[in-house]
Amino acid sequence: MPFKQKVCEHLESLQPLPEKGEVCEACVATGGHWVHLRTCVSCGATLCCDSSPNQHARGHFESHGHPIILSAEPGENWAYCYQDELFIKDAGEIA
Ligand SMILES: [Zn+2]
Ligand SMILES: [Zn+2]
Ligand SMILES: [Zn+2]
Repeated sequence: MPFKQKVCEHLESLQPLPEKGEVCEACVATGGHWVHLRTCVSCGATLCCDSSPNQHARGHFESHGHPIILSAEPGENWAYCYQDELFIKDAGEIA
């Protein structure tokens, strides 16, 4: 048996991964701006990161309880589970 990295069970249960968006939906609605984009794996909403002034991805986890976000930045394939505080280096390989 090859060594299998332990991964967050939330991510395993949320495959397949959603399409990444190109804007923060909440910032567009309110006229805000963002630094980096994250996509919610539970519902596919694309929102802004913790470095952005409004931190919509974190707020989305707090209000909706959706634990996993995926980096929506081009060429990035990592995910983060807010609930487990777990960084997942290559989210695409878990599918
Ligand atoms: Zn998790
Ligand atoms: Zn935002
Ligand atoms: Zn969501």
